[in-house]
Amino acid sequence: MNPASSGGSRRVLITGGAGFLGSHLCDRLLADGHDVLCVDNFYTSTRRNITHLLEHPNFELMRHDVTFPLYVEVDRIYNLACPASPIHYQRDPVQTTKTSVHGAINMLGLAKRTGARILQASTSEIYGDPELHPQPESYWGNVNPIGIRSCYDEGKRCAETLFFDYRRQHNLPIKVARIFNTYGPRMLPNDGRVVSNFIVQALEGRDITIYGDGSQTRSFCFVDDLVEGLIRLMESDEEVTGPVNLGNPGEFSIRKLAEKVVRLVDSGSTIVYEPLPQDDPTQRQPDIRHAREALGWEPKIPLDEGLPRTIDYFRDL
Ligand code: NAD
Ligand code: UDP
Repeated sequence: MNPASSGGSRRVLITGGAGFLGSHLCDRLLADGHDVLCVDNFYTSTRRNITHLLEHPNFELMRHDVTFPLYVEVDRIYNLACPASPIHYQRDPVQTTKTSVHGAINMLGLAKRTGARILQASTSEIYGDPELHPQPESYWGNVNPIGIRSCYDEGKRCAETLFFDYRRQHNLPIKVARIFNTYGPRMLPNDGRVVSNFIVQALEGRDITIYGDGSQTRSFCFVDDLVEGLIRLMESDEEVTGPVNLGNPGEFSIRKLAEKVVRLVDSGSTIVYEPLPQDDPTQRQPDIRHAREALGWEPKIPLDEGLPRTIDYFRDL
């Protein structure tokens, strides 16, 4: 689907546009013929992800913190600004909650003034340590409100609340995506997330650090699939508000992931076990029936294809 061909060229704001997911979304929307305004305060990113876009005639970069109001004229808002890796969002937890909550209020206010459609990058973390498996959107979650992950989980939950209240109160056209673990090129090497950690450790021949016994599971989606899902959701019929799970249902234990990475990199690394962080979810797998039905979307790139592409990226760095 090409939104430019179906709906004409649009002015699209991407908050967090210089981050891992945001920069891929910038690439894709520019390729589709839209004007992209990338807003980022570079809290967990560098200009490197978007350097190749700086000379593009339809691309504009603005350094701005979404916890402050923003006055621009746009038709679409993808609200991605928020640190996503546990080590980053736990570094300044108060700021993390502010980014999710104040950021959502500011971007919703912008959407209300401009009449723009707005999409929130929510997360599978809103399910916490789920007792229901796989997780459908109807599941309310099992979240610790006072733990070390709460700044992220509860911030994102409150942002979802705000989105649906703006819809009920102001009839705003909203879209909420619940993104499950996504990986690919442009993750930061020191980002702390499991895929980038394991690949960098394997490439450098260092120990692969499994937290806990490695039996906890995650489902890993390649970034290109995720970007396609976000765009389909944004351009879906107005009554499709979400929340919609976007992720790859292929579920792997962290131990299995470590073994795969070691094999693919052909690394001499050994696997070592470190303590499991507090409130680390034991299992996670998206139920994507809603995305299949409402968006005609499902991921196409399995881990065995996406991992080598990600490894190549880190090898070239
Ligand atoms: P990322 O850390 O690479 O990107 C986040 C971007 O937001 C960074 O460029 C950062 O500098 C920017 N940012 C942070 N605080 C900001 C602020 N106050 N004002 C302006 N910019 C700010 O992470 P990502 O993986 O690209 O995640 C993007 C979004 O998707 C996040 O909202 C995240 O919660 C969500 N998400 C990602 C995943 C995943 O697996 N990658 C899973 C679930 C949800
Ligand atoms: N993890 C690990 N070793 C690492 C980094 C992460 O074993 O070097 C584990 C982590 O404890 C969690 C899983 O991998 O169980 C996914 O962690 P990540 O931070 O990527 O994402 P999230 O926990 O937010 O899903």
